[in-house]
Amino acid sequence: MAIIQVSQLKKSFGTLDVLKSVSFEVNRNDVVAVIGPSGSGKSTMLRSLIHLEQVNGGTIRLLDQDLVREGVYASPQQIKQITAKMGMVFQHFNLFPHLTVRENLELAPRTVKGEADEIVRRKSAELLEKVGLSDKADNYPARLSGGQKQRVAIARALMMDPEILLFDEPTSALDPELTGEVLQVIKQLAKESMTMMVVTHEMGFAREVAGKVMFMDNGEFIESGTPDEMFGNPQFERTRAFLQKSL
Ligand code: ADP
Ligand code: MG
Repeated sequence: MAIIQVSQLKKSFGTLDVLKSVSFEVNRNDVVAVIGPSGSGKSTMLRSLIHLEQVNGGTIRLLDQDLVREGVYASPQQIKQITAKMGMVFQHFNLFPHLTVRENLELAPRTVKGEADEIVRRKSAELLEKVGLSDKADNYPARLSGGQKQRVAIARALMMDPEILLFDEPTSALDPELTGEVLQVIKQLAKESMTMMVVTHEMGFAREVAGKVMFMDNGEFIESGTPDEMFGNPQFERTRAFLQKSL
């Protein structure tokens, strides 16, 4: 069942058409790797899904609710309710520097969801254990390595019980030796059937973890397929050219 349905999505910044009628679907429990050259619109597409960007046309249907239908947005209240089921992890972590790790995790559930203290406490302890950072709960982000920061960011996203998780180049800001620990957490989430879209340059990871690989180029969705199809036998010359440079 498709829980992300995007059709004819258009977004421009001024005169620059960044998304040119992009259409695709993601099923529940899918792990989709999104690949493509820098500037092709991958971040804009992901950000549009959680309403960090306002699109200029097209439809985004999430979990059977229209976020935007043929360019017309749902009400602010509906938008909030729909996007609350989505989590996002950014390249540069976006942790709150003045809050400890535990406080970073607990802020949104307390303030946005109004969850009870003991529930929030239990969840943050569980999730820090899940990402292997129980011993860092009282540290400030500045004291952590990049890989640890990104694992905190993932745990923080999970605190809101998202049904869909979006990752925008989660390992691109990390030293190579730290990417593994972050990819390992994402791999574990895939095993637990979390629905995820992951923009990534890690072709090995895409091949191993993604059920579907989606290629974007110059604001267009070009093609998607299983990793075997996409890496073994891409249908479009643009995909072939990109993969030749990336593999
Ligand atoms: P990718 O993530 O694939 O590298 P982006 O979605 O970040 O691509 O960017 C696509 C294009 O949109 C690029 O040309 C970029 O410069 C432009 N762009 C992105 N965000 C903005 C913005 N806020 N204002 C103007 N141009 C933007
Ligand atoms: Mg990007």
